[in-house]
Amino acid sequence: MNVALLAGGLGGSRFARALAETLEPRDVTVIGNVGDDLEVAGLHISPDLDTILYTLAGLLDEERGWGRADESWNAHATAGELGAETWFQLGDRDLGLHLARSEALRRGEPLSAVTARLARALGVETTLLPATDDRLRTRIATSAGELSFQDWFVRRGHRDEVDGVSFDGADEARAAPGVLEALDGADLIAIAPSNPFVSIGPILAVGKIREALERRRVPAVAVSPLIGGRTVRGPADRMLARLAGGTGPKQVTDCYKGLIDALVVDNADADEDAGIPTIVTQTLMSDAAARRRLAEAVLAVPV
Ligand code: GDP
Ligand code: CA
Repeated sequence: MNVALLAGGLGGSRFARALAETLEPRDVTVIGNVGDDLEVAGLHISPDLDTILYTLAGLLDEERGWGRADESWNAHATAGELGAETWFQLGDRDLGLHLARSEALRRGEPLSAVTARLARALGVETTLLPATDDRLRTRIATSAGELSFQDWFVRRGHRDEVDGVSFDGADEARAAPGVLEALDGADLIAIAPSNPFVSIGPILAVGKIREALERRRVPAVAVSPLIGGRTVRGPADRMLARLAGGTGPKQVTDCYKGLIDALVVDNADADEDAGIPTIVTQTLMSDAAARRRLAEAVLAVPV
């Protein structure tokens, strides 16, 4: 069974791992968000692709939810001492990956090719594709003005309420090589329990990707990032309340109108109407058994 998964960082990578552990890793193709990408000190950083890579390679700092375990911060501390901006933290081991990727991009290698090479080098068998090789950047409208994604999320700690989200470059962005093939060839399309607005939204902003979901001939299932109306981490609940009018399954479904056939919701949200068929289970991926249970619930959707 082949699954194509749309994924952001934390919820995305956890669910990618759940699928890779339950199926064969090679039967899973992860289509990752690049709307969070940024340049730091001349280096190209792809935070969501990196969280997925590190998770699937067993290298993620699971406590922090980003970056590598067993990390040190010497370069970062030195940069700060020497007057560089340090609001975006990069550990020493992590920096090594950014050096390798940035050098390859500068040579003209597309992001998808670099990502495939990094995955192979880290022993990751699951296919990881950026949604696009083109420049696509999430912009956040707030009362403090329009901010770049990382300005809002990291530098300002996502404290500004969000009035709207847009995607710079989306109109011209083409799906990266392999993405449409993965969606068209999948037996099941899944959307991870990621932030619908700023993790899945940028992927669906690529016209051909949205079209591939609209014309699907196989079931598409999303996993809700909400547990009891709250997110496990991050601002998705606040964004759903403000931009979709509530923090229940129905508001998650509304984000994926016409794109999904079922929504997986947590036991804590079972009583609420989702507007489409639901699969109710424990959705917190707290350990390997929980990950497998959730993956099996998704894979049990009638094909
Ligand atoms: P980011 O790019 O790192 O912000 O990550 P994502 O957008 O992929 O994931 C953030 C979302 O993941 C949050 O809304 C969390 O509620 C959700 N999340 C994280 N872990 C879990 C989990 O174990 N189960 C569920 N259902 N959601 C989770
Ligand atoms: Ca992200």
